[in-house]
Amino acid sequence: MAETLLDITDLNVEYVTEKTFSGAKQVVRAVNGISLKINSGEILAIAGESGCGKSTLARTILRLEKGKSGKVCFEGRNVLEMDSKELKDYRKQAQMIFQNPYSSLNPKMKIVDILKEPLDINTKFTDAEKYNIIYDTISKVGLDKESLNFYPHEFSGGQRQRIAIARALVLNPKFILADEPVSALDVSIQAQIINLLKELKNKYRLTFLLITHDMSVIRYLADRVAVMYLGEIVELGSTIQIFTNPKHPYTKALLSAVPKIETSDNAQQIILKGDLPSPTDLPKGCKFHTRCPNCMDVCKSCSPNEKEIFDGHYVKCFLYLNK
Ligand code: SF4
Repeated sequence: MAETLLDITDLNVEYVTEKTFSGAKQVVRAVNGISLKINSGEILAIAGESGCGKSTLARTILRLEKGKSGKVCFEGRNVLEMDSKELKDYRKQAQMIFQNPYSSLNPKMKIVDILKEPLDINTKFTDAEKYNIIYDTISKVGLDKESLNFYPHEFSGGQRQRIAIARALVLNPKFILADEPVSALDVSIQAQIINLLKELKNKYRLTFLLITHDMSVIRYLADRVAVMYLGEIVELGSTIQIFTNPKHPYTKALLSAVPKIETSDNAQQIILKGDLPSPTDLPKGCKFHTRCPNCMDVCKSCSPNEKEIFDGHYVKCFLYLNK
């Protein structure tokens, strides 16, 4: 049985906005009761459109945001309750690859210094040991030693993302959170970075949480997929289950919008009604009911529970509760 590295239980994250024109503050319910396990050595993807709460979930896992309630346990320790010493240790184990390699690398630092900085802050290695780690890490991402003497602006977008990945790897983490890791890159470069992430995961048995709206990237990279809508996971399963046998009406709509992806029952594009509702004013009942083509009366007043419909395949929808 797969070993759990990260165990999220009933996580809720809320923000209070600044005063609006009416003078009132509003509560944004960004993450609502999410429970999810991430297994060692897997790539779990979170799919969903902009505003669904996936980046807030990611930032809370790294404790860049505070959770309102619930737990995020990394190897049994609750990240949300860690003191500063525990948090420093956790941050060595859990690293992030950001979306934009143009803004995530300090333009005034040479690559060697960008890679050495985390080692200076977090380790007591000698300089010789640090440089050995840096040489090893830069070769893992397919760049040569000479590149260490240059500045970020001297590289292409794809090379910069390799450097950003090297920075995430240099502390030898167990867990990497990749937030839209290829969406800022040219299409021609995206495949190289996607292949690199897959190779790193297989070679070094890294665990990834992949946050992306791009279902093609998910299909190629992920072992499992969690589909998120308005702060909730509405469907979870292996990548094969989600792509060949999607159940939730929202998952079906997401997949139907992707060009050239053939699924068993998504030959036609499903156009959803309206926009994503505001997380300051969540709909009652099933949160998807205002846009769902299969909406029934019960969906408007009651929220469905999650049901395991097949081994490891979970869905939150009244269409499957009594089957
Ligand atoms: Fe649609 Fe109802 Fe299922 Fe929600 S519970 S996804 S509204 S059918």
